[in-house]
Amino acid sequence: MKNQIRKVLIVGGGSAGWMTAAYLHQALNREGMPPRVEVTLVESPDIPRISVGEATIPSMRHLLAVIGIDELDFMKATDATFKQSIKYVNWEHNNNTFYHHPFGRNRRQPIDYAGLEWLASDRKIPFMETCSPQPIICEMGKSPLMMGKWDMGAPINYAYHMNAQKFADYLRDFIVPKGVNHIYANVTDIDMRDNGWIKTVHTDQAHQLEADLFVDCTGFRAKLIEEKMGVGFEDCSQWLLCDRAIAMHVPYDEHYPGMVRPYTTATALSNGWVWDIPMQSRRSLGYVHSSQYISEEDALKELLAYQGPGSEALEARTVHFKVGRREANWKGNCIAIGLSGGFIEPLESTGLYLSDLGAVMLAEHFPQTDEYMDAMAFRYNRILSNRFYEVLDFINLHYCLTKRTDTAFWREVQKPERITERLKAKFEYWKMKPPSQTDFEDQLYPGQNQQNSNPSVHMGDKRVPIDTAGLWNHESYECIMYGMHFDCQAYQDRFGEDRPKLNVHPQILH
Ligand code: FAD
Repeated sequence: MKNQIRKVLIVGGGSAGWMTAAYLHQALNREGMPPRVEVTLVESPDIPRISVGEATIPSMRHLLAVIGIDELDFMKATDATFKQSIKYVNWEHNNNTFYHHPFGRNRRQPIDYAGLEWLASDRKIPFMETCSPQPIICEMGKSPLMMGKWDMGAPINYAYHMNAQKFADYLRDFIVPKGVNHIYANVTDIDMRDNGWIKTVHTDQAHQLEADLFVDCTGFRAKLIEEKMGVGFEDCSQWLLCDRAIAMHVPYDEHYPGMVRPYTTATALSNGWVWDIPMQSRRSLGYVHSSQYISEEDALKELLAYQGPGSEALEARTVHFKVGRREANWKGNCIAIGLSGGFIEPLESTGLYLSDLGAVMLAEHFPQTDEYMDAMAFRYNRILSNRFYEVLDFINLHYCLTKRTDTAFWREVQKPERITERLKAKFEYWKMKPPSQTDFEDQLYPGQNQQNSNPSVHMGDKRVPIDTAGLWNHESYECIMYGMHFDCQAYQDRFGEDRPKLNVHPQILH
């Protein structure tokens, strides 16, 4: 007999849990009507959230808009700032050079030949400066909204930096009054149905919580999906060596009286890289490194040296993580979203994006009855695993194109065995032709096309950006590849050293 899926229980109240609760409640129910799907979130009062995850990508704007959150309100509550780009320092060589990976780029019609033109040129101007105003706007310290709204055609796409702890609290305070049930308790036991699906979870507060669908947002603990459902973890640490971060917060007043930068800085150090994320009241720093190559003590010393004098007094904490993915994000009636479903290290801020994608895809593939569960799970797992591998390749790209040889770590990451097979195949192809949109066809999102760098849909009287996919497509690859001077052999063969001087399109600079 068909059973309607009406009750969802989310276990875990970190960013992933609250993003999922808020998104499902708003996307699956109509305001002012009795809820079609009842969402309950149970979170431990004792187990802290990981509370890193302070830089986002533009997909966050779609999530917030669907939930119905006002941007200004959100920014005030979460100490948020605008983020337009990631500035990569010392990744190619250890010589204070940098390049930007901004969120937007001009697309010229009928063919976007920015890459072709740059490859054929003398390459004296950094690639992204030939096709996006954002690297220069960033260096000027300007914020995107002051440069014009995206409706006006300016290719200024943006995301946010924010306080991760405040973000989860903000979502909770926003969505609980709208009807999501909230319980503070530790989940202790789980009862199963005969068919291997979850029936009930028990808590240390004597709750017995029944539901039709269970979402595991318990972070690296993976209490439901791993402990109970037995879904394994695919380790991907052979491609991304970093497994630990030392994080600290630096108040502006004492340590950095200058401007709030509208971008994240990712500076490569001896055995990894440091994130430098500006919020309204403080900066967040974190040295992501490989425990195989540097001790915690030496990593802390290097982080303090990065920040400069006076930083010894700041509190630092170490976060351990593992890079890899759940072999299936959805098994039976249990879906893992957030760190329980997998993690790729923090470069490019893909953690919250993958949680966001997990929630959006669950709403889209929500099974109306238990009969549809397996079909939806199959498709969901395919989309999420494909996206994970795409992101893995993209992060892998940042390391393997380095030309640094100053430490064993940097020599190691460029070895062929540290490059994923998919990325190697892409490189072979991109030696013959530059990356183009058709190399990433499956990533196009409905409504997204070449003409429109900020695709959007109408929701009521609001225009909602839908830039939830296609983020790491040919444009991002070109940005990193040319930022690190990957050579397209075909252009070398054709033009050699005798390449014409490139003029920057005047509209980019003025
Ligand atoms: P958590 O925050 O760990 O939440 C787990 C929740 O489960 C908690 O509420 C806990 O109380 C609850 N829980 C656990 N066990 C039980 C139980 N038995 N009963 C009840 N409740 C339970 N992402 C980005 O997008 N940008 C970044 O810049 C970024 N930086 C990162 C840096 C590092 C070093 C790491 C490790 C991650 C980073 N991420 C980043 C990823 C990001 O932090 C996570 O994707 C995001 O915070 C989601 O975490 P979560 O909610 O899955 O887990």
